[in-house]
Amino acid sequence: SQDLSGKIALVTGASRGIGRAIALALAARGATIGVHYATGADKAAETLAAIEAAGAAGFLVAADLSGAQPWESVTAQLRTELKARGAEKFDILVNNAGVSKRLAIEEVDEAEFDRVLTVNLKAPFFLIQSLAPLLNDGGRIVNISSMGTRAAYPFMATYAPSKAGLEALTKLLAVHYGPRGITVNAVMPGATATDMNAVSRDPNVRAATAKTIALGRVGEPEDIARVVAFLASPDGGWVTGQIIDASGGQRL
Ligand code: NDP
Repeated sequence: SQDLSGKIALVTGASRGIGRAIALALAARGATIGVHYATGADKAAETLAAIEAAGAAGFLVAADLSGAQPWESVTAQLRTELKARGAEKFDILVNNAGVSKRLAIEEVDEAEFDRVLTVNLKAPFFLIQSLAPLLNDGGRIVNISSMGTRAAYPFMATYAPSKAGLEALTKLLAVHYGPRGITVNAVMPGATATDMNAVSRDPNVRAATAKTIALGRVGEPEDIARVVAFLASPDGGWVTGQIIDASGGQRL
């Protein structure tokens, strides 16, 4: 079953792109969705409206994950929203928010290194640490990595290492939280048509990239969301500690 009715999920970076598609996929399966965003308040409100239009419920959570201890604010906001719904705990955490900039090693200064590592690795680390006590036993953690950890792209000098760290964390937490029945997995998208990736803007880049993908096209946010929904649902319950490639076979 992929029925998520009665479940509560928090999806970071759900204002647009892959995070929005994940939020909508979990809502379509009946979950109540915490729609986290940083700067895109209007876009997050659109995500929430789409969730409600689909007959599900949700709420907004605002936090800049590059700021100081944002996990404390996220945890406090989530506690308040859970209480308002008569719940003490939630069920599904999706660490999707991320940043990327095409830079080779020579082009990276310390501030850029810190920015990418903070949003892509430090924030998920401390969000999980802070939210784990609020996660129901039998719950789910899904971290969004990138196939850039599997294939070498020199312009991903900070991005790929940040995601590789997230994958290592995924594996060890699967063992750590296994006794609580919590599964922890990562999904590696390939090139996906969102604001983050030039394939969404430049038809030439899209065509060239599609040639590197076995299935012959770039990914859409919904392609990733379906995989996350599987992992988050009862059907995915026997999968943990896995890094699942959802790239349509990019650079195989
Ligand atoms: P987008 O750039 O389209 O969206 C990024 C999301 O992350 C937004 O909701 C944004 O919130 C949020 N975010 C960015 N910076 C911060 C921050 N400092 N604090 C809090 N939230 C932040 O990205 P995608 O949807 O493409 O990417 C989603 C995930 O998928 C990322 O982890 C990315 O690395 C990964 N991925 C994407 C690929 C692609 O080709 N698109 C390929 C492989 C992996 P807001 O707008 O509200 O500020």
